[in-house]
Amino acid sequence: MNWITNFVRPRIKSLMGVKDQTPENLWTKCPGCGEMLFQRDLEAAQLVCQHCDFHMKANAKQRFGWMFDGGTYDELPYVPVPADPLKFRDEKRYTDRLKDARAKTGQQDAVLAARGTIGNLPVVIVAQNFMFMGGSLGMASGEAFVAGAERAVADQVPLVLVVASGGARMQEGILSLMQMPRTTAAVQMLRDARLPYIVVLTDPTTGGVVASYAMLGDVHIAEPGATIGFSGRRVIENTIREKLPESFQRAEYLLEHGMVDMVVHRHKLNETIARLIGLMTAAPAATPLAVPETTEAPAEDPAATPPSDTEPQQQAAQ
Ligand SMILES: [Zn+2]
Repeated sequence: MNWITNFVRPRIKSLMGVKDQTPENLWTKCPGCGEMLFQRDLEAAQLVCQHCDFHMKANAKQRFGWMFDGGTYDELPYVPVPADPLKFRDEKRYTDRLKDARAKTGQQDAVLAARGTIGNLPVVIVAQNFMFMGGSLGMASGEAFVAGAERAVADQVPLVLVVASGGARMQEGILSLMQMPRTTAAVQMLRDARLPYIVVLTDPTTGGVVASYAMLGDVHIAEPGATIGFSGRRVIENTIREKLPESFQRAEYLLEHGMVDMVVHRHKLNETIARLIGLMTAAPAATPLAVPETTEAPAEDPAATPPSDTEPQQQAAQ
């Protein structure tokens, strides 16, 4: 906009060897309450605002670091796919967009899969990075999800998905849309193997992923305040010519209307997932189950005494 700020100042800085230590690097403004948050504190709090509990977007590696026990995990290798088969170009070439996204995120594509444990229970986590082209679902993301599901089946462990996506990757056209049935088939593979598939819906979960693997979990957990929906609010309002409620497509609204099973604070995600896996696989969860405390020993309860052995005989006589 301004050639002095955009051109002259960076040139002077680079000539003088001044590092760009602007407050943007140290402080983040909370989109929820507007408070300035010290970046280091924010990262220690898993990018949750300490003032208003706003859950900020996190990338795939951050998710792995927070979710796997001790932050240790084995990342599954990237599965190569044909690069830009449609030779797509809008204002920019798709290959250039990919190059930029790779440089920005240090990832080959939007989805990563890794093995590790949550609460000592082995799992595979597939995580989507919104910072990589809006977490869009293309061939490589589809491959990564399928590879994660295949690994879960081979190891006989549950699959946990952390979604953050704007939908299909339009630069790959039909090849992107084909990832919807592919990932759906991968979910079915987990179902056939009777392995739990737990989905964590984070902000935003929209478009093609909602129409496929993101909404096919055994349990759907949403992070507070996350936007979850197929098409955008404005599109729907224009179609039905009605004003939608303010809370529309928010995690809490979806919980009320039965589209998600629970809304869980990011700090409680691990224990919730460990508990769910424990319940679904009868594996001992590392975290104690939230059962109400029993007050009395049941020994003196007459209902608890074993039935007398005369009853079966009476029944047999009849
Ligand atoms: Zn805040």
